[in-house]
Order: sequence, then structure tokens, then C-alpha cells
Amino acid sequence: MMDEARCTVRKDRGCQREIEFLEVDCPTQPRPCLWRGKLTDMEHHVSEECPKRLRECDLKCGGKYLAEELEQHMARDCHRRPVPCQYCKQQLPMKDLQDHYMGCDRLLECAPTANKLEVKN
Ligand SMILES: [Zn+2]
Ligand SMILES: [Zn+2]
Ligand SMILES: [Zn+2]
Repeated sequence: MMDEARCTVRKDRGCQREIEFLEVDCPTQPRPCLWRGKLTDMEHHVSEECPKRLRECDLKCGGKYLAEELEQHMARDCHRRPVPCQYCKQQLPMKDLQDHYMGCDRLLECAPTANKLEVKN
């Protein structure tokens, strides 16, 4: 018969292996994604990969968005996304654009011309 010490070690290893191979569904709340994988990969999935995990906007607008929607948010919706001034072509955060227009050199150069043309007509 096996001696007791070896038996215990084997049992523990067996248990560990079972946990390593245990398959779990994505635990992200309130909406999990379709991921299913090893319990040992779950933490990485939830913090790095899950498209349903909440991520802070990279542009530091303070908003949190689903990882799968963050790209769209930063490209289209974020008030801190960089947009070019249509006069001087400088890239500015969206929220600063209006202020920039007030002081944009190129805009001021263009504005009097526009006014003159309007007066002419
Ligand atoms: Zn997931
Ligand atoms: Zn944002
Ligand atoms: Zn400008």
C-alpha cells in the first residue's frame, strides 16, 4: 500500500490540476462576454481582455466605458478627443476648441475678410 505522506501530496497535486483545468464563464458584471476558459486565465481576461470590462477613457475625460466601446468613444464622442482647428490645423482637445476659436490667429486673419465680403453683398 502507498504510504500516507505520498498519498497526501498526490491528492493535493490532483486538486491543483483540477483547478487549473476548470473551465469558467466570463464573470464580468452586469454583462459577461462569451469568453469561456481556464480559471487560471480568468483574472487576466477580466483585467486585460474582456470586451465587457469597464475601462477608463485613455484621454482622461473621467468617463468609464466598455472596452469594446472605448475606441469609438475616443474617436467620436469624447470631449477630450483631439480635433483639428479648421483654420490653423492645430490638434486640440474637443472641449478646448471653442476657446481656441476665440483666439486662433488664423481664424482672426480670416474673419475680417469674411465680414468685408458680407458687407459688400
Ligand atoms: Zn469577458
Ligand atoms: Zn473620454
Ligand atoms: Zn486655430
